[in-house]
Amino acid sequence: MTPPPPPHRPAPVVDVARSPHARLAPVPVSAVTLDGGLWGARTRADVEVSLLQQWEQLESTGRLDNFRRVAGKVDRPFRGRVFNDTDLYKWLEAASWVLVRDRDPALERLVDQGIELCEGAQQPDGYLDTYYSLERAGQRWTDLRDNHELYCAGHLFQAAVAHHRATGSERLLRVGIRLADLICAEFGPPGSGRRHGIDGHQEVEMALVELYRETGQRRYLETASYFLEARGYGLLDGGWFGRTYFQDHRPFRALEQMAGHAVRALYYVCGATDLYLELGDRTLLQTLERLWTRMVARQLYVTGGAGSRHEGESFGDDHELPNGRAYTETCAAIASAMWCHRMLAATGEARYADLLEWTLHNAILPGWSLDGRSYLYVNPLEDDGGHRRQPWYDCACCPPNLARTVASLPGYVYGTRGDALFVHLYAQGAATVDLGGRTVAVRQSTRYPWDGRVELEIEGEGEFALQLRIPGWVGVGDGAALSVNGKAVSIPLRPGTYAPVRRRWNRGDRLELSLPMPVRFLEAHPYVPEDGGRLALTRGPILYCAEAADHPGVELRDLEVDPAHPLEVSWEPDLLGGVVALHGRAAVRGVGEVWRDRLYLPLGEAPAPGEPRPVQLTAVPYLAWGNRTPGAMRVWLRRGEAG
Ligand SMILES: [Zn+2]
Repeated sequence: MTPPPPPHRPAPVVDVARSPHARLAPVPVSAVTLDGGLWGARTRADVEVSLLQQWEQLESTGRLDNFRRVAGKVDRPFRGRVFNDTDLYKWLEAASWVLVRDRDPALERLVDQGIELCEGAQQPDGYLDTYYSLERAGQRWTDLRDNHELYCAGHLFQAAVAHHRATGSERLLRVGIRLADLICAEFGPPGSGRRHGIDGHQEVEMALVELYRETGQRRYLETASYFLEARGYGLLDGGWFGRTYFQDHRPFRALEQMAGHAVRALYYVCGATDLYLELGDRTLLQTLERLWTRMVARQLYVTGGAGSRHEGESFGDDHELPNGRAYTETCAAIASAMWCHRMLAATGEARYADLLEWTLHNAILPGWSLDGRSYLYVNPLEDDGGHRRQPWYDCACCPPNLARTVASLPGYVYGTRGDALFVHLYAQGAATVDLGGRTVAVRQSTRYPWDGRVELEIEGEGEFALQLRIPGWVGVGDGAALSVNGKAVSIPLRPGTYAPVRRRWNRGDRLELSLPMPVRFLEAHPYVPEDGGRLALTRGPILYCAEAADHPGVELRDLEVDPAHPLEVSWEPDLLGGVVALHGRAAVRGVGEVWRDRLYLPLGEAPAPGEPRPVQLTAVPYLAWGNRTPGAMRVWLRRGEAG
């Protein structure tokens, strides 16, 4: 007998359903399936491979034993970094999003074991941090700058909220609430009689807002707001990295650009957006919009990755975007997507969904191997074969962050406002959505992101609107088209906006959206010196790169592409898990023998470049780079004449 389906629990990723300043309501993870194509395959790998592989790593690296030792169950020294508890918390969050739809008993057992570990390590007063309990007993909250107690707490709260939303169980939520109550009693503004302090790594702010949404306890919202408002006045004593690293150099509303440690900065703005959604402080939203606009215009890689500098894992100055030395931590890309998701809820503007999609494809997925077993922490845009994904890291923030992001992805696909269903992302799958009291089912049939045709079959009667995102990458003259039941619909399809289709729908109506995906050559702002004279290749929402595996014997640094030559688009089911590759003519023109042992020459003494030697170009999606024999990779290719 088939087991009964799991109870339908509305489990949105970020629950702004009752947030007074949200412009869009979330569609729960539980309401959406992704059952084919790129995201179907990636979500399957997350469930079938990554979650189990990561649990084994949590065990073998001593992270779980740290909890057992606090509970007195093993006798071993603390192992790892001060923030290692968060790896379990993020894993629990990831697994919870999977349990929303698949109550796999084996996974549920692991989740229960994880929760038991949290319960066992929690102190009688609610405190929970294995590093402090084992190594620094009696010294709680004494090194907020470096030791991540509140950061760890934040990840616990997010896991607790996800588990409660996904399963209805209050077990982990109770653990979170006890710690949150302790934190609210401990921290507060001067004059409150409480400790005036902030954490060196933002995270607890957005997590407390979500805990408020889940429990209705306003003190969590107030404490989140306190942590945001207390930052920027030097409470952290910047130390070697300086106050900017911690975003403690000026108050939030005085920030002019994203600066300092990228993940900290991006979790910070996530928390600020969550606070805006609840409190409606327009000065917060104005600051957020200013920071986002400037980041996109001057600080993001063409991948969508954020954080140019290895030094301090930080944002760079305007146009400081080196390719080989790009830092672009996977967690920073995830945090940027989380911010976009929140800004989309706050404004309803398609530009945030555009960057969310681009970042998912071109900055988050590259951090993950195709087999689901290894991960990149740093994501360069050019490489000579040295960067390879690892099964785990000493600082393992990225792997479980990827797992939770992919597991919760169904919750990013749609949004609602009144009787309008917003389609933010296109992906093969189905959704059942409550639309102003009416249940509407939608089925997306598409090969997106490899093909721009999307068919939406509607199961719902009556009048309502579909708001279809026309991505910003669509060219105005490319001929995007929309039809319902085969009849063209003449509404403006403006790239970077939502196209509203309001009508009286009948069961089985079919809407067809066609988003042409010509190959595009991009160039970078002239102030980005590393990209001067270079081109990047894109098609639809996908960024491409060239890899040595497809160009044996070719020095990729010398590879020239000529934008005058069209590239052939080819679906290759056996390449890199099934991708669209680009093929065409390119050329190689070596720099000449005279340069062999010379670094500088008087102008005029270098020989003219030789005749170009034609070679075949194969460009593959950057999201799949580094999955074959180690070798060179380049996103930005020399612009030349391919002859
Ligand atoms: Zn990370």
